[in-house]
Amino acid sequence: MANTPTSKQQTIKGKKLTCTVCSNDTFWERETLMNTAKMSFFNLDWLNKKAKNYICDNCGHVLWFMNKR
Ligand SMILES: [Zn+2]
Repeated sequence: MANTPTSKQQTIKGKKLTCTVCSNDTFWERETLMNTAKMSFFNLDWLNKKAKNYICDNCGHVLWFMNKR
């Protein structure tokens, strides 16, 4: 990890992201690889991708965004 992650305002499809819990608007960003075995078990293979997480800087609520590619 070269650069230190910082929380910042995030935009999804041109809309500013706001925490649904506390209305905060700064988030940490990270990517998560979905668990292949578990997702196959639930017949959700299309979810076997990278998901993007935005973690609220204030309350820690995690928002998930799946890229269907
Ligand atoms: Zn929040």
